[in-house]
Amino acid sequence: MPYQAFDSAAAIAFAKQRGFLPAEADVHCREIGDGNLNLVFHLSTSDKSLIIKQALPYARCVGESWPLSLERARIEAQVLQAHGKVAADWVVKVLDFDLEQYAMVEEDLSHLQLLRKRLINSEKVAAMGQNLADYLAQSLYAYSDFELDPKAKKALVSQFINPDLCLITEDLFFTDPYREHERNDIFPASLATAIAFREDDALLAQVAELKARFLSCPQTLLHGDVHAGSVFSGPGELKVIDAEFGFFGPVGFDVGSVIGNLLLAWCRHHTLGNSDYAAWLESELLSFWQRFESRFSVLLQGSKDVALANARYQQRFVAKVLDDTIGYAGCELIRRTLGLAHVADLTSLEEGPRAAAEQKALSLGRSLILASEQRCDIALIPTLLKTFA
Ligand code: ADP
Ligand code: MG
Repeated sequence: MPYQAFDSAAAIAFAKQRGFLPAEADVHCREIGDGNLNLVFHLSTSDKSLIIKQALPYARCVGESWPLSLERARIEAQVLQAHGKVAADWVVKVLDFDLEQYAMVEEDLSHLQLLRKRLINSEKVAAMGQNLADYLAQSLYAYSDFELDPKAKKALVSQFINPDLCLITEDLFFTDPYREHERNDIFPASLATAIAFREDDALLAQVAELKARFLSCPQTLLHGDVHAGSVFSGPGELKVIDAEFGFFGPVGFDVGSVIGNLLLAWCRHHTLGNSDYAAWLESELLSFWQRFESRFSVLLQGSKDVALANARYQQRFVAKVLDDTIGYAGCELIRRTLGLAHVADLTSLEEGPRAAAEQKALSLGRSLILASEQRCDIALIPTLLKTFA
């Protein structure tokens, strides 16, 4: 059957035809997608539930005027499967994928809650930093040159070429926020800073550096969009979803996305005077990096490539991952404040606190990006946070 965007009836028919539900089952189905791009259906019977996610041939948040390749659904399913193979505890299970309908069947994670919601609600999610660090260390190591056979790596790089979705990141992350562009969405109180950034040559030069590394540094298979809305969490569980931005890029991009999102939550809570929660976020952020660094470094010692097994080289590699991480975290702070896609951590604030929190995000973002030009120490982050009285 040729591709057709599902409605609830079509989603139910698909699940039955693929053998996930008996033909005679009485199925309840709701479209629950709150994301920017795709359709997500929640299907349930009296004893079973599952998720069907289908790509649309355009960006849902904008409409048909922004066409997008359906291939992203294949990439998403295959990134989740690839990461699931090496980091199963932390990745949503993909049960099926259909290349005609660009639809996949996933386990239902409705018993969990999106991490962003928990962070906004000041919940101290147990072992959050540790789980995110272990997920990233295991999956980012497994698809790197340290581990993969060189020919297998090149085959995977080509399998995960993802031009449409990479272009979204290239534009929305690295280009638009530093220029006047109709896609930007700038809160009036942040406009003066946005205009100043457009003339800030030191900042623009380092953003160019970070964009160039994003464009041409296929270190490993990234998730590509590990923001707090791509992570489900609950007691003793943390699961990553939504990997359609995956491709081979620099390790620090995913690591920096996590840090950027924790800092966005920090800007919210610090502004609201929730100092205990802001301190928790800071300490989780530090333990996230420390755990990632130590796990990743241990994995590097098992390098299958004898040349890359050199310990001094590996230390340099990890140091550079931190520089990138700091830089990409800074980009995340700025693009979530000035660009197209905002986060509820900031937008749900009242006008006054929102203006103050956005100023922190922008100033922190700029400082992190500028710092990433040189060798970074993670202690930079607590030092910067202290400057906001
Ligand atoms: P998009 O690619 O459009 O951003 P997401 O993958 O982020 O779509 O999914 C949109 C929403 O659908 C999520 O925020 C979440 O609420 C819900 N969702 C997605 N996958 C699942 C799942 N496996 N279990 C439960 N809910 C899910
Ligand atoms: Mg999403």
